[in-house]
Amino acid sequence: MNEQNIFIVRTGEVALKGMNKPYFERKLVERIRTKLASVSEALEQQGEGKIEVYRKEGLVFIRSPKSLPEEQILKPVSRIFGVSSISPAVEAPSDLDEIGNEAVRFMLKQIEEKGVKTFKVEAKRADKAFPVKSPDIARIIGAKVLIGCKVLKVDVHNPDVRLHVDVRKDESFIYDSKVSGMGGLPLGTNGKGLVLFSGGIDSPVASWMMAKRGMQIEVVHYHSYPYTSKRAQEKVQRLVQIIAGYTGRIRMHVINLLPIQEEIVANCPEEETTILVRRFMMKIAEEVARRNRCQMLITGEDLGQVASQTADALVVTDAAVSCPVMRPLIGMDKVDIMDMAREIGTYETSIEPYEDCCTVFLPKHPVTKPKLEQILTSESKLDCETLIRDAVNSEEVITVNPE
Ligand code: ATP
Ligand code: MG
Repeated sequence: MNEQNIFIVRTGEVALKGMNKPYFERKLVERIRTKLASVSEALEQQGEGKIEVYRKEGLVFIRSPKSLPEEQILKPVSRIFGVSSISPAVEAPSDLDEIGNEAVRFMLKQIEEKGVKTFKVEAKRADKAFPVKSPDIARIIGAKVLIGCKVLKVDVHNPDVRLHVDVRKDESFIYDSKVSGMGGLPLGTNGKGLVLFSGGIDSPVASWMMAKRGMQIEVVHYHSYPYTSKRAQEKVQRLVQIIAGYTGRIRMHVINLLPIQEEIVANCPEEETTILVRRFMMKIAEEVARRNRCQMLITGEDLGQVASQTADALVVTDAAVSCPVMRPLIGMDKVDIMDMAREIGTYETSIEPYEDCCTVFLPKHPVTKPKLEQILTSESKLDCETLIRDAVNSEEVITVNPE
């Protein structure tokens, strides 16, 4: 019998990476190791052995002590970007008699635990030097299982269990269920971006989408304390913490925008307040990004959603900075964004009713078709450079760890 539980991790899109595949796989192994590190250490301290993660023949394997419930591997690993699916498996020497015995044991357990009645063998021969071809492997193992488990019948169309037999060079694997992962690419394989992170529904989803494509993220959040409360900021921090559950710890830059908002209100036309504030948010973020080696900005903007996200407003907002600005939600419908937020687990926190700095000094009739020239004229009344530098210098940096 096996001393350890074994899991096979499939990498989905990573597998399409051609020459770069080993790099992506190595990154993924690193991500899995990091995610399981504290559990592994605890097991080792209790003398239970540790968790091993390694690549072999195009697959990623995890071995964990039997005493650790499978769920404690399946759940966290299925949430790592770059994992397309994961299966608990049993192992057998690459010999048909041995595989057959292990398959019988495997199915007897299925019958006992789940009342399984029908099955189908799906055989695969990764080792082409193995002398028996896949359809014959399936037939031979199927026959052994029928003899060993008298209550079972074969059902090729709709079996209770699809018994996968994966014959490899050194050892073979048997498994049935696959737990779906999130897909995407391993974090850290696609640069670093800075998310403009509010307490709303959209920016957490935008963060998640970019991180899913392998981009490491930091976030910047603006508040207008004391007009906005400490509790509003705590809510934002809880949202970042949920995202950190997928990415690992996140650096959060917190900046008070009130001095700039007051300058704008005192010197510029009231209806331009929102767009001017948004341009400052972008400019400050660009400087934070530069200082922290983030290559691009990310926002949760979505075309047409609110007055500040009309095409004209986006053009004027975008012109505030010269670095690339990613807007992963730009063409999505709000209902679909909300569905994603539910899936990610941020929705319930996002809808908690706290004030945002954007709602402070909200103009009665914001311009929906701002003209860049006009906005630049208004901005020229302000000492933008000093305001931005002071804002960035006053930042508070918080390291947000996953729960
Ligand atoms: P969200 O749900 O992300 O708050 P929203 O639909 O409420 O978006 P806006 O409030 O216009 O739209 O904000 C648009 C984008 O600007 C946000 O998605 C976010 O990227 C950024 N943003 C807004 N408020 C803040 C803030 N207080 N701090 C940092 N970024 C912000
Ligand atoms: Mg908002």
